[in-house]
Amino acid sequence: MARQFFVGGNFKMNGTIQSIKEIVQRLNDAKVDPNTEIVISPPSLYLLVTREHLRPGIEVAAQNVFDKPNGAFTGEISVDQLKDSNITWTLLGHSERRVILQESDQFVASKTKFALDGGIGVILCVGETLEQREAGKTNEVVLSQLKAVADQVKDWSKIVVAYEPVWAIGTGKVATTEQAQAVHAAIREWLGKELGNDTAEKTRIIYGGSVSEKNCKELAKEKDIDGFLVGGASLKPAFVDIINAKQ
Ligand code: PEP
Repeated sequence: MARQFFVGGNFKMNGTIQSIKEIVQRLNDAKVDPNTEIVISPPSLYLLVTREHLRPGIEVAAQNVFDKPNGAFTGEISVDQLKDSNITWTLLGHSERRVILQESDQFVASKTKFALDGGIGVILCVGETLEQREAGKTNEVVLSQLKAVADQVKDWSKIVVAYEPVWAIGTGKVATTEQAQAVHAAIREWLGKELGNDTAEKTRIIYGGSVSEKNCKELAKEKDIDGFLVGGASLKPAFVDIINAKQ
């Protein structure tokens, strides 16, 4: 079964109302591959303006969501608030949150379950640091991040797994096609063993880490790379070339 190509744009803590409106306008006007599912993720303050101006057919993701329904959780936003604002996806487990904000695998898993139970799709980020890769622990780290989620969530139909080696994020140092494909294949094999062949076949596994208009086409040829999560380049015109990597 063919998996639909998926490209996410993670704006991180970048942009202004003006610059985000310009990015949105560029996407609205662009000739994008109709077979690619596109989701963009602006800072939470700009989710509404993004949704308001973005054309239908392109979805919007939060960069994070909390695992409680509402209440005294200063600074957090809830799944219901996202749904109320027509935001249908969230990123979770981005390495910048795992490393800088020290989010544990269990916390990421709990938020993933909460988002999915509330009807929001999850772009679940996993990946190893350079130190872990050099110690030969890449698969162990990535699979244990996924296992924490699989312990709580059995239905992965609204999860897109984003493999993002930490050493490749924002560094200009992209994983080779072989390195990326090897981890994607290991993730798919693990999904098969843990959650069954159907989940393994259907789950999109996308790559993130210094994806650009120059390297996207080669990466997109790999059999287990089902799209990209794009940081820096998602703010630039080159994002459209990455969306069209399969053409
Ligand atoms: C990211 O933030 O998810 C990312 C992959 O960033 P970049 O493309 O800038 O490496």
